[in-house]
Amino acid sequence: MAKRMSTVTEREIRRRRSSLMLKCLIAVLIFLSIVLVAWIIYDTQFKKHDNPWTNAGGEVKAENSSSGEAGDVSASEGENDASGTQDKEGGQTASGEEDSAVETRANRMAAQYDYDGAIALLKNQPDYDRNDRFKSLAASYEEIKASCSPYPIDQITHVFFHSLIYDTARAFDGDAYEAGYNQVMTTVSEMNSILQQMYNRGFVMVSLHDMVEFDEAGNLSTKEILLPPGKTPFVMSQDDCSYYHYMDDDGFPQKLVVTDDGKVKNSYLEEDGSVSIGDYDVVPIVDTFVEQHPDFSYHGHKGILALTGYEGVLGYRTDEVYKTREAGRVTEFQQMFFDQNPDFDFDKEVEEATKVADAMKAEGWEFASHTWGHINPRSVSMESLVRDSNRWRDWVEPIVGPTDVLIFAFGADIGDWQPYSAANELFAHYKSMGFRIFCNVDASSKYWVQIGTDYLRQARRNLDGYRMYYTPDLISDLYDVSQAWDDSRPTPVPQM
Ligand SMILES: [Zn+2]
Repeated sequence: MAKRMSTVTEREIRRRRSSLMLKCLIAVLIFLSIVLVAWIIYDTQFKKHDNPWTNAGGEVKAENSSSGEAGDVSASEGENDASGTQDKEGGQTASGEEDSAVETRANRMAAQYDYDGAIALLKNQPDYDRNDRFKSLAASYEEIKASCSPYPIDQITHVFFHSLIYDTARAFDGDAYEAGYNQVMTTVSEMNSILQQMYNRGFVMVSLHDMVEFDEAGNLSTKEILLPPGKTPFVMSQDDCSYYHYMDDDGFPQKLVVTDDGKVKNSYLEEDGSVSIGDYDVVPIVDTFVEQHPDFSYHGHKGILALTGYEGVLGYRTDEVYKTREAGRVTEFQQMFFDQNPDFDFDKEVEEATKVADAMKAEGWEFASHTWGHINPRSVSMESLVRDSNRWRDWVEPIVGPTDVLIFAFGADIGDWQPYSAANELFAHYKSMGFRIFCNVDASSKYWVQIGTDYLRQARRNLDGYRMYYTPDLISDLYDVSQAWDDSRPTPVPQM
């Protein structure tokens, strides 16, 4: 009996199950039909309208719309449009989305005081004449530009930093280098405060090459830096961004690196042996600041890095000696480096450094020579001077590209305050190597600029521990030291 009951129940269950399955099947079929109808409607509409992702300028036939290639071509054209360099064909393809991308880019250019560039970008759009939004934007840029005036080129100040101290506990740990770090370095927290304060006071970062230009014959002419009222241009440089071996384990980054999205960051070796990537030195800190405050940068221009070559550049060991390991030239530090890095690959090192330099240039950074060996040109023989210049040309220039800027080491110079004369053989040498712009260190005045017929000379002001501790008043036009000062500095800062 129990068995029979059980059989009936099972049959009933099976019957109900198949009925349920049938209902499910019908539901699925109805759903699929709806999707199919929706797709047909969507597809018809899709092909009727211009689609920026499949229409690579001009008419696109329906069968092309499934081609992945067409999409790629269009995407890369879109980038060209944004740079304003390529006139788009077809004229009918601009969608609302493209308009807003152009507008965003134009606004950023105008925010960085490049009004002519922003206006040209809008006027180069094929539908400009019919685009009231673009026309009113261009008119507003013209209006702001009319309120601008040229800043006197001979009154532009120049500030500089060394590598920033990221971990103050490791830098100020009582070792032999602590005093030097305390004197000539700036900490990350001080840098953040300095940037914010200078921004609040209306300072705008310009390039040395915004100030002057040289013709083929080497003759100088001044350029015009146009800024709205209340804005003050300044030049920023960073010296010795090599992450020298002696700085290992002292709270400085290892090197500059390029992330997958093309940004320049620092890598930092933590005490536990792990590596962090972030904003730990001037370049990525300024990049991030300008991303958030575009109007801190004139035409997208940033600072200039003064590089030596003897231990490589930007944290990469790219000098000749790392390739040849020539006996007699390898220092103790370098030998230690070779011992610790048995898999060191010189060519890869040069390749990586070049990638960083290229990414930096794309972000508005420039490079200068700081002499290959961090020398004072007036305290070496002409023979060593020439050897030094050749080494910079042979081992640094291939990575960072040619430069006409020489930023002297030790704040030295190749003459006194009077104009360089043709009889100055140091000047003649550096001129023959292609240098036209020369920077020393002099913090005694707010600015010092000498405009020669064939060179520009500018003094720089050190914003480091020594300056902040002993003569904060000399830099009070730039920022308030009491707000920026990092309390983790040991005091007094040692005398030089
Ligand atoms: Zn230096």
